[in-house]
Amino acid sequence: MASKKTAIELIALQCTECKRKNYTTKKNRRNTQEKLELKKYCPFDRKHTLHKETKVK
Ligand SMILES: [Zn+2]
Repeated sequence: MASKKTAIELIALQCTECKRKNYTTKKNRRNTQEKLELKKYCPFDRKHTLHKETKVK
């Protein structure tokens, strides 16, 4: 790859229930094309909820 752009992308994980961004993580776009969806603990809902990938600002 001639591009200097890294394949590693910083993403935020947003709670699907309260819409808060509770976590940030990195993903390798070359290995993971689909959107990440993870069960994570949400401190605002005080339970495990589904968190989906969103952009970090
Ligand atoms: Zn939540």
